[in-house]
Amino acid sequence: MMNGFPEPNIVSSRCIEFESCRWNGLRISSGAVKILRPLADFTTVCPEVEIGLGVPRPPVRVVRDRGGLRLLQDETGADLTDRMRSFADAFLDGLGEVDGFILKERSPSCGMKNVKVYPGLGKTGPLHARGAGFFGAAVIGRFPDTPVEDEGRLNNYGIREHFFTRLFTLARFREVRRSGSMGALVAFHTACKFLLMAHSEGELRALGALVANRPRRRAAEALAEYERGLRRALRLPPKPGACVNVLMHALGHVSRGISGREKAFLLDALRRYRAGRVPLSAPVAVVRSLIVRFEEPYLAGQLFFAPFPEELVEVSDSGKGRELWR
Ligand code: SF4
Repeated sequence: MMNGFPEPNIVSSRCIEFESCRWNGLRISSGAVKILRPLADFTTVCPEVEIGLGVPRPPVRVVRDRGGLRLLQDETGADLTDRMRSFADAFLDGLGEVDGFILKERSPSCGMKNVKVYPGLGKTGPLHARGAGFFGAAVIGRFPDTPVEDEGRLNNYGIREHFFTRLFTLARFREVRRSGSMGALVAFHTACKFLLMAHSEGELRALGALVANRPRRRAAEALAEYERGLRRALRLPPKPGACVNVLMHALGHVSRGISGREKAFLLDALRRYRAGRVPLSAPVAVVRSLIVRFEEPYLAGQLFFAPFPEELVEVSDSGKGRELWR
């Protein structure tokens, strides 16, 4: 635990911030990974090095032939498809509990989407088709409800906030599951109420019924079912309208004590958030200051207001990519 936050288990492409293992001997810089490093438990992997390629090395590419997609190395023509698939299977089989993945964008091995697919080797342009890299595809296939992002997408504040929220909430739930305690599940659900309201009212209701029904099932069963619902609920980012509703709901708890000017300030922050001009953390920060001022214990316990450590709010935005939201 760091400042009351559990450390999420993250698997990352090794060339992002960790080692200079890219085909050209370089390393990739990522603000999101840099600030996550002291707050998370990272396992790193370079699938191309793991299958025996050196650094530097001739680049590889995804090629479509009549038999399907192949991973081929330009220059040598080596077909690395089977080696990469076997490595990905063995590596993912051996992983313990993982809360999220950060993969190198557009890599033919690690990429999760937008990887160029070529018609052959040599000087040929890519096909129009794009997809996942070989290792990236294996991750997504094996962990469909676990957050997977690439370092490029994490430059967008909306995507980043959603990813951090999922990471730290799933890491927190892992501790609840380990405790095997229904009491811990009830406390967790209570703390998640606003967060779930923002992501999915339907899942909030279903999970509430599951927690209330607890005498009817064994704790292990209830915890496993709750986890499935939680992962589903957090899969899509919260809709701005739902977040505004949650914040207005919270405002109702403190509105009697605030001035007209303070209320107008918050409503302006909400307007700017709704227009996509500031991240969710901007109006949340305003409401949090009111929670602290009025010592509102119920609101103070809501993970919605602090789903991940404060240090992670401080990364600049790429200024593009709202269209990148899945
Ligand atoms: S993208 Fe993946 S395979 Fe390529 S250098 Fe980075 S970690 Fe290694």
